Amino acid sequence: MVEKELCVYCGRDNTQVTFKGSEHVMPRLMGTFKDSPTLIHCVCDHCNSAVFNPLETRFKEGTMEGLFYQMHNFENKYQIRVGGKNLKVNFSIGLGDFFNQIFPFLTYQSGDWKMTLIPQIKVLRPENNSFTVLLVTEIQKLNRDGRDFKELSAWVKKVDPKNVRIFAFADSPDDVGEINEAIALIRELGVDYKEKKSHHAGHEDIVQKQIDVQLEDTVGEDAARILTKIAFNYFAKCAIESERRDLLSHPNFQQIKDYVLGRITLPTKKVIVDIAHETDIYDEVVAGGRIPGHRISFVEQDGKLVSRISLIGKRTYIIHLGELPEEYRCENFGSAHFFDPIRHNVLGMTQNPAKWNSGIKIGFSIFNRI
Ligand SMILES: [Zn+2]
Repeated sequence: MVEKELCVYCGRDNTQVTFKGSEHVMPRLMGTFKDSPTLIHCVCDHCNSAVFNPLETRFKEGTMEGLFYQMHNFENKYQIRVGGKNLKVNFSIGLGDFFNQIFPFLTYQSGDWKMTLIPQIKVLRPENNSFTVLLVTEIQKLNRDGRDFKELSAWVKKVDPKNVRIFAFADSPDDVGEINEAIALIRELGVDYKEKKSHHAGHEDIVQKQIDVQLEDTVGEDAARILTKIAFNYFAKCAIESERRDLLSHPNFQQIKDYVLGRITLPTKKVIVDIAHETDIYDEVVAGGRIPGHRISFVEQDGKLVSRISLIGKRTYIIHLGELPEEYRCENFGSAHFFDPIRHNVLGMTQNPAKWNSGIKIGFSIFNRI
């Protein structure tokens, strides 16, 4: 017997929609993980691709978390895209406006994450207040006949050359090897690039400077919907693993699902009820700072199902998913996991000291609290 497939979001079944894809609890734009939890046969292809994918792309480009995730560039992507109406970012390396346009990356050096500068081609997209950073060494690795290179070239050719900046690093003004490589690459991509102005700063000057990031960002509706979706995905995964799938179609969660799907709008404050800055992992307390990973949890609070999400070690969003049905308001209701984009692991978190460092694997369940 084939079980009827039902989309946990739109409620349609396999006579109405298809279920070929799998929905990642943590969107792939936030990393790849071993045994990454997914919802299979639970989220229809329409919700997954047509509704969520474009939202996730905007989340990656237009939020603080998306920006910092991209600055780490864990997966050696060849392009970084940043901007949009909800995010303004300025970097300052103290060498004047020209050099402040360089996009810094975060690399792990001698026990800490430090901002570093990598040869890059920066393409401004003033029409939507954003920019794209192309990484020279990563693009050089692309197969010239492959889809990625061809798509990139087709896009770059349409760009006005005056919006293109090249940043490379040299030990002296005469050392033009790296800059020439970048120029050759941009020409290979099909841009008629002519060097207009060139500036040089000593390598020592740059290394010794502290890079400052000034950010102005607002949590827009797209971002709030994606954060809420991650929270509900996680809850859904735990409910399914606990064989309480029916809980997901409880009318108490209809409103939040309609909100995630964009069928209704809600004031952001009604969904993300608070934003906290906290250190909640033992290792972080010891280190005195945040670890650049993602944590999700849910608990019952005043009768409500409340999720807490923090991505890439940044602020914690406190999200209301709905009234928790009475019968689930028990002591062990709740769950928490940590997604580590550096080691590509997903770890269960527990308040039970007997399980700390015990090697006991904490699975997905809605009854994970002690
Ligand atoms: Zn659906």
